[in-house]
Amino acid sequence: MPTSASRTRPTPAQQRPPPAHLGEIVSRLRARYLPTLPAPRRWPDPLAGVLRTILAQQNTRAVATRQWEALTLTYPVWEAALLDGPDGIEATLRRAGGGLTRIKADYLYGVLAALEASRGELSLRFLHDLGEEEARAVLEGLPGVGQRTASLVLLFDLVRPAMPVDTNIARVAARLDLVPEAWSTNRTEVWFGEVIPRDWETRYALHLSGVRHGHETCTPKRPLCGQCVLRDLCPSAALFVEGVSADPGTRNPDSKKPAGIRRAGR
Ligand code: SF4
Repeated sequence: MPTSASRTRPTPAQQRPPPAHLGEIVSRLRARYLPTLPAPRRWPDPLAGVLRTILAQQNTRAVATRQWEALTLTYPVWEAALLDGPDGIEATLRRAGGGLTRIKADYLYGVLAALEASRGELSLRFLHDLGEEEARAVLEGLPGVGQRTASLVLLFDLVRPAMPVDTNIARVAARLDLVPEAWSTNRTEVWFGEVIPRDWETRYALHLSGVRHGHETCTPKRPLCGQCVLRDLCPSAALFVEGVSADPGTRNPDSKKPAGIRRAGR
């Protein structure tokens, strides 16, 4: 039952209403990075997507790919991984390199064991027949699967209009002053989920183009504001000197946040 506090707590979008130019931001990012939308990664069984996304957590793409290849070579069927147990899975991941192998192995084994116990088969095909919220609840009930991992599987593997937000998208959103800097990526993800049209293509394009924008242009330390398609819409552009680190102390000392720009904690 909701408490009086939860009934009165504003949602992220109520706390920070979307600006009128949000649609322009979305369409410029898509035009810049994704003039042609790539085909989604479609796997018949979302279990592969869950396991692969767990490997990608806090890993580079190269390491996650190596670990995935080692996993699928060692275990042609997931029943073999379940039989091998967490120690065997960890040894397989360790041979592929990368860190956090114990935690990942426990999560992977935990997912397989949970499916065996609850459904008697190592498959998540049944998620295709569930509504988005039901599917999310199942996913978030699995070991190692939080809000963002569930959103990624929903968007990529189940072709549902989820809106996963990573650190790239969260950083861009804060610099554009769409959300307060102090918000967590999960809260920013809820905000995007409230304000972006609920259709798969729009959200898929925004996720991919937002991640690329954060990787290629709005980078953590050296944002390339001079080349940015959002520069005239971005209150942070004036804070950065082109090509100079944005670490405190190396921001443009002559620039100030324009008056009227909302800051964290609003
Ligand atoms: S203008 Fe600079 S800070 Fe703003 S979104 Fe573009 S790259 Fe990021």
